Amino acid sequence: MISETDARAKILEAVRPLPPRKISILQALDRFAAEDYFARLPLPMFNNSAMDGYAVIASDCKSGSRLRVIGEQPAGVDRKLRVSNGETIRIFTGAPMPAGAHAVVMQEDVTRDGDVIVINTDVDVDEFVRKRGCDLGEGQKILGKGDRILATRLALLVSQGFADVVVGGEARAAIISTGDELTKAGEKLRPGQIYDSNSILLQSLLTRCGAVVASAENCSDDADSLRKSIQSAAKNEILIVSGGVSVGEHDLVQSTLRELGAKIDIWRVAIKPGKPFLFGQLGRCFVFGLPGNPVSAFVTFLQFVRPAILKMMGASDLDLPKMPAKLTVDLTNDSDRAHYLRGKLENGNFAPIGRQESHALFGLSQSNALLRVETGESFKAGETVQVQIWE
Ligand code: AMP
Ligand code: MG
Repeated sequence: MISETDARAKILEAVRPLPPRKISILQALDRFAAEDYFARLPLPMFNNSAMDGYAVIASDCKSGSRLRVIGEQPAGVDRKLRVSNGETIRIFTGAPMPAGAHAVVMQEDVTRDGDVIVINTDVDVDEFVRKRGCDLGEGQKILGKGDRILATRLALLVSQGFADVVVGGEARAAIISTGDELTKAGEKLRPGQIYDSNSILLQSLLTRCGAVVASAENCSDDADSLRKSIQSAAKNEILIVSGGVSVGEHDLVQSTLRELGAKIDIWRVAIKPGKPFLFGQLGRCFVFGLPGNPVSAFVTFLQFVRPAILKMMGASDLDLPKMPAKLTVDLTNDSDRAHYLRGKLENGNFAPIGRQESHALFGLSQSNALLRVETGESFKAGETVQVQIWE
């Protein structure tokens, strides 16, 4: 049995970032930038109006001033207009500021009288003007290598004229759920059988990481079937096998992998739940064997599979986000393994929720955060702890 830290380090040493590729921004959501990106254009690109109103010379304007409307400047075209003293130009949101104008007076703050407006307010220089470059300067870094490409960052890239982006490779993962007891979602259960809930759990977690689910299949606890399933699934970069990695006679994953020539780098990690976790390599495929108990599969996915996938996809931050929380109960870990408690983080407080056993899927479904308690570690109610968030 190796420590969780050593297991994670070993996995992260083994996996390598996949080759980057240039893709359309339409496909780039949730991928990771493979290079730094810098602003090609300032934002805003030109001084423009923040309001529908009138472009004015600020010193011309006091409450009661009268200005002559000499033209109109809509958005989308630059009519190259100029304002002189005593004049104003009708302007619309996003329209380029006419030369000579310092400010925009909102249309709500004027009274229009034919070709003349009467100003009903004081006006400051730059009021309702969005100045060129005030948001973003040319050359400023807009996206760092390894940053996740969020919807907002895609919008920023487009604002800079990019239509493509170079991203880290896309990890493709196959899932095999092993177990004679498993029945597919929605099908009829026979006595002694259970539904394969891990498959959808793992597919969802993979998708959340930005990986592609190449295939998801069931396999009985039978060496021949398992061999065939593994051989075919190992064409992908990643294979996740659920169940069958423990020590019983029906746990055939490790022996089958060895028979196929796989190198097993890790088997059994000091983590609770999730001890029988397995990691190895079969040809160029990284194989993760997750214990079949749903909570164990969940915890080992987040602690070992997720960071490996993120590294392969070129992410710079491989950790789950953490948040400080006030513990509402006393806790001690007197086991010989690091314990991941499932709990509820609400209004800054964290409390363990549901049965803390590896089969307890309902409890897991009620939780939204994990607290790692090291071997021998104790916390008192009221203490601030760092919890991991996965949603
Ligand atoms: P195993 O790791 O194969 O020894 O399985 C441990 C426990 O997890 C057993 O109670 C299995 O029935 C259960 N289990 C295994 N695979 C799944 C699955 N895909 N979905 C839900 N439970 C499972
Ligand atoms: Mg099994």
